[in-house]
Amino acid sequence: MQKIVAKNTIVEMDGDEMTRIIWTMVKDKLIHPFADVKLDYYDLGVTHRDQTDDAVTVAAAKAIQKHGVGVKCATITPDQARVTEYKLKKAWASPNGTIRAILDGTVFRKPIVVKNVPPMVRSWKKPITIGRHAYGDIYRNTELRIPGAGKVELVYTPADGSEPTRALIHDFKAPGVAQGVHNLDASIRSFAKSCMAYALGEKCELWFGAKDTISKIYHGRFKEIFAEEYEPRRAEFEKAGISYRFMLIDDAVAQSVRQPGGFLWACMNYDGDVMSDMVASGFGSLGLMTSVLVSPDGLYEYEAAHGTVQRHYYAHLRGESTSTNSTATIFAWTGALAKRGELDGTPEVTRFAHQIEESVIETIEGGIMTKDLSLIADPKPSGHADTEGFISAIAARLADKVGAAAATR
Ligand code: NAP
Ligand code: MG
Repeated sequence: MQKIVAKNTIVEMDGDEMTRIIWTMVKDKLIHPFADVKLDYYDLGVTHRDQTDDAVTVAAAKAIQKHGVGVKCATITPDQARVTEYKLKKAWASPNGTIRAILDGTVFRKPIVVKNVPPMVRSWKKPITIGRHAYGDIYRNTELRIPGAGKVELVYTPADGSEPTRALIHDFKAPGVAQGVHNLDASIRSFAKSCMAYALGEKCELWFGAKDTISKIYHGRFKEIFAEEYEPRRAEFEKAGISYRFMLIDDAVAQSVRQPGGFLWACMNYDGDVMSDMVASGFGSLGLMTSVLVSPDGLYEYEAAHGTVQRHYYAHLRGESTSTNSTATIFAWTGALAKRGELDGTPEVTRFAHQIEESVIETIEGGIMTKDLSLIADPKPSGHADTEGFISAIAARLADKVGAAAATR
């Protein structure tokens, strides 16, 4: 059989625990037998990050800047317990945070929809993608407990030495609390650009919700910047048959549960934090949630939204059978492959990625699934597949699909 050949390189970032086990299975059963893909490999497993003083994470991010497309396995973000467990030099920063800081991107989370895992919300038929602005607001706040009577003010002191600007927050007569938050035009703008690039790439409607009726300057600035970035792309949006809508956040929330889905919902930091958990649990399982980091200048890093599934890994180490869902990890690979094909002008690579995705969905819809899905599927399957059995079932379908496609060429 003739293998599919990808023209350019994909940056591969290996990871930790159960997802590292799945990672190898996915490559060995679903990718390598069918396709020749040049992979620039970085081991982001926590031990190797520790050995390289985390330089490997920075190197991986730079490789994405060079090649444009990366795929990442879930990784441990070490806390004190992990430092002890893996005998680390220190609690290294989150690899995702490090990579995001270098690429300056926005994370988009999108659920995979399968017919026999019905969403909790009846009207949802197509995925809802959440784009969360990941800078500022309450995540970089300064807070004060106010012990008693006194004034709290905002003071801006210009660096050029000119007169400061002051605004009264509250003239306290009794104890209370106060906080100051900020955001940056440049960060908001790159968020708006990433959202528009994503909506155009996926050809999906773009919503942005904020509360500019109440917060006329702060939320209002987000609305203005989105409008400024949309204007030069209006014709491109129309050509793609999509539109951009600004909505009040409460209106967006109310409408989101009455719509069939199929849109990108751009959220301010706190809204994105909250609504991404609502959407994830509303669509079913963490094992069905994908995630992609899109930089404003068009770099893409794909991964599963879930972590390293530590509990299953320990069961695996004890020699017990596991049933870990590899769907989101597989879709990280297919997202990267499809994007590689799109950027390289090699539609056969993109088609191959879609064949893998179809094989996964048909396998689940055919009743072969992991335990997490078997618990919420309708109709209920008679049992569930183990971690490797699920991937092998997908591989068998994929071989049929690729073989049949080759025969008709
Ligand atoms: P997790 O790995 O997402 O797993 C939490 C629980 O969700 C699992 O115990 C399992 O439930 C269920 N689950 C998640 N993914 C699943 C899958 N693919 N198939 C079946 N069940 C799945 O979160 P965590 O245990 O809180 O975190 C473990 C490690 O992952 C941490 O060290 C954290 O730093 C890291 N993490 C990394 C990323 C990333 O790299 N993007 C993201 C989040 C967390 P049951 O046990 O009930 O079966
Ligand atoms: Mg959250």
